[in-house]
Amino acid sequence: MVRDVIIIGSGPAGYTAAIYCARALLNPLLIAGYSYGGQLMLTTLVENFPGFPEGILGPELMQKMEEQAEKFGTEIIKRDATKVDLTTRPFKVWVEDELYEANALIIATGAKPRLLGIKGEKELLGRGISTCAPCDAPFYKNKEVIVVGGGDSAMEETLELTKHVSKVTIVHRRDQFRAQKILQERVLSNPKVNVKWSHVVEEIVGKNKVEGVILKDLKTNETYFYKCDGVFIAIGYEPNTELFRGQLEMDEKGYIKVKDYTKTSVDGVFVAGEAFDYRYRQAITAAGDGCRAALDAIKYVDELKSKKA
Ligand code: NAP
Repeated sequence: MVRDVIIIGSGPAGYTAAIYCARALLNPLLIAGYSYGGQLMLTTLVENFPGFPEGILGPELMQKMEEQAEKFGTEIIKRDATKVDLTTRPFKVWVEDELYEANALIIATGAKPRLLGIKGEKELLGRGISTCAPCDAPFYKNKEVIVVGGGDSAMEETLELTKHVSKVTIVHRRDQFRAQKILQERVLSNPKVNVKWSHVVEEIVGKNKVEGVILKDLKTNETYFYKCDGVFIAIGYEPNTELFRGQLEMDEKGYIKVKDYTKTSVDGVFVAGEAFDYRYRQAITAAGDGCRAALDAIKYVDELKSKKA
């Protein structure tokens, strides 16, 4: 059975694409992955998604999107796509040893948190190092932690942590944050927060769990040990595009290159959300991208059908 469209990925981009394709009666298959729901599953209150003036919990928002996609006839597989072949028509997508085929493909695989790549990080990941405060903050009740980064994520991680820990030290490599002003204000006015401006973490130290970090003051070049119980890394993201490497044009960081809004280097393969968008990265922009990719895929499938007719 060759499907009209397969969507890979289940964040706001993937579910929105599914809703549009399903309502266009394309019976989409959405390969949601084991970590279905994407990054919003790891957040708490989402206050900037229009339509929810009181805010909505990230997992609840994703649950609603999934229900809406299913309601219109989307088939959802909650396992990972493991291989694709975009060189043949129809396109081939494997989920382990199961093969699925489609005339059009929408990639909405999103991005994952970037790591620092320093000594001690790999060894202590999950043992005092985290990239998700909403998931792990309760484990640090009354403890002292650091947050690395100066963007919106670092601010949100910090605010979440202050509900549980006794002290948060933000380590930021410059002398100003890039985060939204409203988040900066909330963070900087919180008495539990202090900031190490113009500092980097050189090493994470600990035997079986984090015991502290080696910090470097970039203004004086001084390095010193700083005691902490946890390290929350919030330095941005990298795209989940390994599956398509060598088959789609990408930039040097692995973001899929787009032309004409949602089209990739392979005709019939469309992209939405953070797999290509390193600039806006919002749930609402990803949803908008999902809509665009779906409209382009619907048009592509319609044209294919009318050529065959
Ligand atoms: P980001 O905006 O790219 O910020 C990353 C931060 O980490 C920057 O402050 C950067 O420093 C720092 N950094 C990067 N690499 C580093 C390294 N190797 N060592 C030390 N520091 C490093 O990433 P983000 O905060 O994850 O946000 C990503 C996007 O999602 C943004 O567009 C943001 O607006 C959006 N977002 C929005 C919300 C919201 O609206 N509520 C929440 C979360 C994220 P520099 O400043 O020096 O570059």
